[in-house]
Amino acid sequence: MASRLHVRKGDLVQVISGNFRGQRGKVLRVLPEKRRVVVEGINLRKKHVRATPQTEGGIISLEAPVHGSNVLPVCPHCDRPARTRRHRDAEGHAERLCARCGKPIPKA
Ligand SMILES: [Zn+2]
Repeated sequence: MASRLHVRKGDLVQVISGNFRGQRGKVLRVLPEKRRVVVEGINLRKKHVRATPQTEGGIISLEAPVHGSNVLPVCPHCDRPARTRRHRDAEGHAERLCARCGKPIPKA
């Protein structure tokens, strides 16, 4: 079952393990089935592209997906990567709370 991740498209996230640890970037894509995310500037791979009438071809850098467990959203209040808690506000809307300071982490 593809369940919801703790990060969503547009979030600013920080990588917490692996080669890109400590780097921040924006979430470009979320792949819930694989529990992976594509983050701008993170996990860049070189890809050799054949020239077509539309593109020039050559070697381009492209982000490869990283596992969701390796990134955390950056809390705008703490300015630090934070685990999140799920919560429903008074109107019943689901929101994410920073596990560190308890304030909501807004959608991008
Ligand atoms: Zn916080």
